Amino acid sequence: MARVRLEKVWKRYGSVEAVKDLSLECQDREFLCLLGPSGCGKSSTLRMIAGLEFISEGSIYIDDKVVNNVDPYKRDIAMVFESYALYPHKKVFENMAYPLRVQKLPEADIQKRVRRAAEILDIAGLLERWPRQLSGGQKQRVAIGRAIVRDPKVFLLDEPISHLDAKLRTHMRGELKRLHRDLDATMIYVTHDQLEAMTMADRIVVLNLGVLQQVGTPDEVFNHPRNKFVAGFLGDPPMNFIPSQLQKKGKGYKVVHEQFTLELPDSISRKLIARQSSDSVEVELGLRPESFDLSSKQPDGCDMQGKIYVTEPLGEDVIIDITLGNEKIKAKTVIGQAWQIDEPIYMRVKHDRIHLFDKTTGESLLM
Ligand code: ADP
Ligand code: MG
Repeated sequence: MARVRLEKVWKRYGSVEAVKDLSLECQDREFLCLLGPSGCGKSSTLRMIAGLEFISEGSIYIDDKVVNNVDPYKRDIAMVFESYALYPHKKVFENMAYPLRVQKLPEADIQKRVRRAAEILDIAGLLERWPRQLSGGQKQRVAIGRAIVRDPKVFLLDEPISHLDAKLRTHMRGELKRLHRDLDATMIYVTHDQLEAMTMADRIVVLNLGVLQQVGTPDEVFNHPRNKFVAGFLGDPPMNFIPSQLQKKGKGYKVVHEQFTLELPDSISRKLIARQSSDSVEVELGLRPESFDLSSKQPDGCDMQGKIYVTEPLGEDVIIDITLGNEKIKAKTVIGQAWQIDEPIYMRVKHDRIHLFDKTTGESLLM
């Protein structure tokens, strides 16, 4: 059993504030992803949990114990880095056995633990090889194996697969997720890759500039982003943001842009009534590329009309870049229809997929 809790944690390097007032909790056996762009404070956070970095302010708990002043090796945590840091002059077996030798465990125990970890990771056939005889993916497995043999309370993984090629990364995503289940362990996983976080995490912690943006399940952060940053960071191609006016219309609301007027459904208007006071405010209309029904002929109830700028076929799907007045937006649909450059395209917006953000603060108006 292992929970990790951060309470109002700060990390300062001189005048750089890398982590600002961060509070969060990782539940027992949870797969928690810290997600955000490079430099947002992910590694600093992980290294403070591991005890490799001094905590400037605040407290970190493992289970119910404050560990701020506990030495790293006494925290019962194993960390896996992006660089595998294998010992080149030790064979795979000895690389994996190393932390156990440091602990001076009996030889029989070491043999048992290394072989079990090797089986879990499917590298039992590689134990007699030298690191230079391994592929990138195999090296990363050995590095993970070295963490597993210690049977720690908590695994901390800092972009462990970021540098692998795309195909291997996809493969390792599945492997790591399965490993989490097999070990029944608490894992905190750092990545800048939203797809990794979406596919692997039980919950995602989104960070930007050292500040917590949102914590939630992949579904929550993807479908109910609290602000424009979260909305734009998750999803590929990213959400389209269209600067518009939000105006009252009778009992409801509409979004007005020089190219279109979008009447908002009651479900959204009800949320807006609760918070909007003025009759007209500047907003960013947020629409994911998947939120449109597209047609080359004008359908009934068409919300917007644009012009096809270019098409990007993806095999099953196609991304269509559309010019909408001064805006460029991307829409995604299944392949099949012949879309012609410079021809008009008609868009119907899936009304349950509309997002609205305050133009100034970037906060969602629908939370
Ligand atoms: P991430 O892992 O999300 O890329 P980091 O935690 O490594 O982010 O860094 C967060 C911020 O702190 C960055 O602005 C980085 O330049 C700064 N930083 C990290 N480590 C140090 C250090 N040892 N000294 C000074 N600044 C640092
Ligand atoms: Mg980092």
